[in-house]
Amino acid sequence: MNDFVNNIKPSVRAISAYHLNGKQYEVKLNQNENPYDLPKWLKDELLDEFCGFAWNRYPSFGNLRLIEKLSSHVQIEPNRILVGNGSNELLQTLMAVSLSAGKKLLLVAPTFLIYHQLGRVAEADICEIEFEEDWSFPVNKILSTLGQEQIELCIFCSPNSPTGATLKESDLIQILKRVKGLVLVDEAYHEFSKTSCLELQSDFKNLIITRTFSKAMGLAGLRIGYLIAHPALITEINKARLPYNLNIFSEFVALKLLDHYDLVNKNVEKILSEKERLTRELFELNNVTPLPSEANFFMIKTPTRAPELFDKLADKGVLVRDISKYHPRLKNHLRISIGTPEENENLINSLKTTLF
Ligand code: PMP
Repeated sequence: MNDFVNNIKPSVRAISAYHLNGKQYEVKLNQNENPYDLPKWLKDELLDEFCGFAWNRYPSFGNLRLIEKLSSHVQIEPNRILVGNGSNELLQTLMAVSLSAGKKLLLVAPTFLIYHQLGRVAEADICEIEFEEDWSFPVNKILSTLGQEQIELCIFCSPNSPTGATLKESDLIQILKRVKGLVLVDEAYHEFSKTSCLELQSDFKNLIITRTFSKAMGLAGLRIGYLIAHPALITEINKARLPYNLNIFSEFVALKLLDHYDLVNKNVEKILSEKERLTRELFELNNVTPLPSEANFFMIKTPTRAPELFDKLADKGVLVRDISKYHPRLKNHLRISIGTPEENENLINSLKTTLF
């Protein structure tokens, strides 16, 4: 009956849309956001100045001011940067220029769902390798796959979501020496792990990095991300980027935040010390096992069925992420983002009353 839908690619029809529970909760620990918004004085200052902008005009072509600013912030040449409407958009742009039917995308599972989603839309063959038993990166398996298959694009999320481990530099070097295609390292959470593979780009021209303003930088609502790569790759990826993909408000706030980067550093330290405290307290709960993570979130192994515990916490106004259906090995797992001390306290109390 709905034959017209057959005009959509089979690889797209075969998948479900990315979906998230959109209900509002008092304690929101489900998206690895920064729990701290920009201070009111800075918002007021920004809004005052933004009123003077011409909203009827397109953004500046090529986001040159933001690229210049990021270039001095990250200490790299401006021709190695692309900015986008969140790093998701840049992932999509990269996949649009590097993948097509039958080309191979290597992922380590479980990881950020969007890679899989975008890979399927691009009709790529997805080659999934499982994390090791202890959730470390399966470097030997990756190396042997790279020896056997022609892979166009490998994506490593470091620290990985939802598992929390980082890819060690020495392991990445081995992979880069073996691989013939492109390697993307998604550094969405790098401010928390304080790790980066940026320096390896001078030796490995096929290494691409994406970063975001949505996590440590606390601007998830404004959708800002950037990609760092060799200028020759930037030239090609830029051909598939939509013009004016970053709106004038997002660009303006991103510029201001880079002028006030001490705010980001302070928030990162607060979140990391809360992570330590929350992990300690969860260990004391005995039958909840928090797993090690280098990001602003961690997984817990649940004593009861994960969806049940998720529902009970949600009933108490605490929203975490039910990842139990993301991968067979996550059957008894929930993912929890680190919130403010009050939010974390609320989570602990809700767990206590739910489990005991
Ligand atoms: N990469 C990872 C690993 C993420 O978890 C997320 C956000 N959930 C993103 C990228 C996307 O970030 P952005 O908001 O910049 O699109």
